[in-house]
Amino acid sequence: MSNLLTPQNDPMGRAIADFFEKGKAAKLRVFSSQFDEDEIPVKHLFRTFGQMAPLEQKALLLAKGKILDCGAGSGCHSLALQDMGKEVNAIDISPLSVEVMEKRGVKNVSNTDLFSHPAVQAYDTVLMLMNGSGIIGKVENMGKFFTKMKQILKPGGVVYMDSSDLKYLFEDEDGSYQIDLNGNYYGEVDFRMQYKQVKGNTFDWLYIDFQTLSLYASQYGFKAEMVEEGEHYDYLAALTLL
Ligand code: SAH
Repeated sequence: MSNLLTPQNDPMGRAIADFFEKGKAAKLRVFSSQFDEDEIPVKHLFRTFGQMAPLEQKALLLAKGKILDCGAGSGCHSLALQDMGKEVNAIDISPLSVEVMEKRGVKNVSNTDLFSHPAVQAYDTVLMLMNGSGIIGKVENMGKFFTKMKQILKPGGVVYMDSSDLKYLFEDEDGSYQIDLNGNYYGEVDFRMQYKQVKGNTFDWLYIDFQTLSLYASQYGFKAEMVEEGEHYDYLAALTLL
């Protein structure tokens, strides 16, 4: 099953294309059943290496060999990697983002859904950045995700993924947490985006704490390591295929 977007339901891709063509963009609006309306600054999607968060810079520096930039967006990470002389393939489900990446000079780009990526066992490194765990969607997809990673990584290959532990959203003033342990995992979120008149479909996006990620990793034959912690419950993990 492939979940590629069409240009008609690709609001982020439209925003990226607008910013690329005009140097500015309108509001990229984000809706969720769990949160108030928010906005993604489109310019942020075009950040240079120097403008990236330390966690992202770290991931780019650690990436080696043949690299897959998964959910590459405007291609910011792929372009930085190419500048370092590294070999990278970029994939994204957004056809408009893929077009922009081609125009910006990303050498190997394809409009591919990670979950339909052929089982090539070709990559030394897979990068999933800007809350890259989001692409997994829900905890129940963890098996599907690690199985796909096994199919595309070389033995010993590493996934660098950033995420955040959302538990701070449920913290009371007294420091206790209001989390319904019988409910869905607290980092499972739904989003929908809109750019001008272009409305996207609702999609699932997973934020995951490091401990839960580690448990799943070990269950599926990966070793999880904390590479670096950010300033606000965010972190970069390395998942090594054993
Ligand atoms: N990595 C970029 C973009 C992050 S936004 C950056 O840091 O700026 C997340 C991107 O992942 C979007 O461009 C979205 O289209 C893409 N994406 C979502 N699900 C995907 C999937 N299953 N396979 C490939 N790309 C996906």
